[in-house]
Amino acid sequence: MERGYKYRIYPNKAQRELIAKTFGCCRFVYNHALDRRKALYEKEGVSLSRTDCNNWCNRELKAQNEWLREVDKFALTNSIYDMDNAYKKFLKEHAGYPKFKSKHNNRQSYTTNFTNGNIAVDFNGDTIKLPKLGKIKAKVHRAFDGVIKNATISCTPSGKYFVSICVDAEIPEFHSAIGVVGIDLGIKDLCTNSDGTKFSGPDLAKLQSRMKRQQRSLSKKSKGSNNYKKQKLRLARLHEKITNIRKDSLHKLSRSLVDENQVIVTESLNVKGMLRNHHLARSISDASWYELARQLEYKSRWHGRKYIKIDTFFASSQVCSNCGHKEQKVKNLAVRSWICPKCSAVHDRDINAAINILREGLRQEGLEIYIGQELPEFKPVDRPTMDDRRISDLRSRAGMKQEAHRL
Ligand SMILES: [Zn+2]
Repeated sequence: MERGYKYRIYPNKAQRELIAKTFGCCRFVYNHALDRRKALYEKEGVSLSRTDCNNWCNRELKAQNEWLREVDKFALTNSIYDMDNAYKKFLKEHAGYPKFKSKHNNRQSYTTNFTNGNIAVDFNGDTIKLPKLGKIKAKVHRAFDGVIKNATISCTPSGKYFVSICVDAEIPEFHSAIGVVGIDLGIKDLCTNSDGTKFSGPDLAKLQSRMKRQQRSLSKKSKGSNNYKKQKLRLARLHEKITNIRKDSLHKLSRSLVDENQVIVTESLNVKGMLRNHHLARSISDASWYELARQLEYKSRWHGRKYIKIDTFFASSQVCSNCGHKEQKVKNLAVRSWICPKCSAVHDRDINAAINILREGLRQEGLEIYIGQELPEFKPVDRPTMDDRRISDLRSRAGMKQEAHRL
């Protein structure tokens, strides 16, 4: 299984120049190959493969532009393959037409391949060897076992350099976990779990207000001036800081969810997207949801967990998780807690939704314990299973927590 290890690197001046040059060359071949592909298709209806594009780059583009030979050849090939992937995505998924790469792109990176020991990490000496660049000073904070496949060198808008080493490694199988969990994604609390726990994420209010101040200050500076550039860099650093704090807390969350649960269910984000408005808080939680889903997905894959995304839209908040009664008044988002008129269960809106999400996920995957929630009452299946006990236990636990919360 492939796994990435990311390290901060500190290239010297000459190395920085070569990295910048490689970014430029990658952009150059990407744009020219895309342009040629588009033109040939439009004029002659000829469809080029990625090998055609790469051969053309090696034979013609490099002959016309000798300076392309000064940089890592794998980086150029990978750049063409990137273009090909964007192109295929466009054809297959009707995604947008591949864009030409601009010099002003925020994230600059290139990927090089491993061959004959050209990439090496010195775990004792704190250096990383990369093709064409030689040894670069690095902060090697963790070691890995496995075969290096490739390395991606990147530079952030604030001018920090990183290398991500992709390693083919055996990932130790986790002990199997006993829990099952449904997760309701929200704004105030980023997520609420079916066991009643809530996670609101780190408190970033201070940093965010500093960000707003700095953005205002940037807008007052004249574009292109030295002060403008300085302020822009300051803003980029702050932005990175916020992103890192958020990512770090999400890693801890996804880690503990995967540690404790064998089955994890969330609503698919398209469903959530239906409810989208353009509020700032919303866009921030959107980004966190995507990141959390991404982490849950790959960590579940690594550790043999089942991660289920519910695709269909269903009224997870309005159904009583105890008896299946549908309560219309809960449609109103302001209703944070309610009492089921039919069975008198006391519900916290989000915990109730999380339990329903869990149940719906289990149902969709044929792991159901209860018959569909459209029925007026949940009917237990004939034979009680381990999971049966778990979910009823879980429900009463959540119920207890909710009641405690009310008191
Ligand atoms: Zn009820």
